[in-house]
Amino acid sequence: NKVIGVLALQGAFIEHIQHLNCCIDQNGYNLNVVAVRTAEELNHCDALIIPGGESTSMSLIAQRTGMYKPLYEFVRNPSKAIWGTCAGLIYISKEVSNEKELLKPLELVEIKVKRNAFGRQAQSFIQDCDFSDFAPGLHDFPTVFIRAPVIEEILDPKRVKPLYTLDNGLIVAAIQDENILATSFHPELADDVRFHDWFIKRFVIKQ
Ligand code: GLN
Repeated sequence: NKVIGVLALQGAFIEHIQHLNCCIDQNGYNLNVVAVRTAEELNHCDALIIPGGESTSMSLIAQRTGMYKPLYEFVRNPSKAIWGTCAGLIYISKEVSNEKELLKPLELVEIKVKRNAFGRQAQSFIQDCDFSDFAPGLHDFPTVFIRAPVIEEILDPKRVKPLYTLDNGLIVAAIQDENILATSFHPELADDVRFHDWFIKRFVIKQ
């Protein structure tokens, strides 16, 4: 069985684990899901999801627990599937344009991101998005944005393709190479597992 790890240092990791397990129960995938807090746990994984939460806290905890280097190396292995959501997207980005004191990102995805790009907590929102251009059937997904970042700039257009752009032109999802997904929203907070199911099929079991 392949193993999907969810980085469990901080943030919405339980929700990701529940969504993945729901997809596995519904479809009988030969997959295991584990919470990752140590290098030993990380070593067993074929894929890693880095959840939403608070990217500065996540970064500090990773450094204090000795996880920065194992993560830095793991995410650069092209045979692994990687997905960062919201704070997770910030944490895997090459460059962060604002509020980056104390933040030491993994510098994996060739993008520049702006944190809290939609404003304060009160400006958080849920919007139905049509993802069916890349995810079959996903034309009405309730998409949660909480103090979300946006992708301000794609630094290497050969490697990074925008995946989804809001009506106002802001890029909120991108793919790097064949194996790395970055979304500024939180599919794990919707009462809907279809986005996770698409991730499993497209990135993990590649059917
Ligand atoms: N605003 C948070 C940050 O900058 C991200 C918020 C989230 O993950 N929902 O880290």
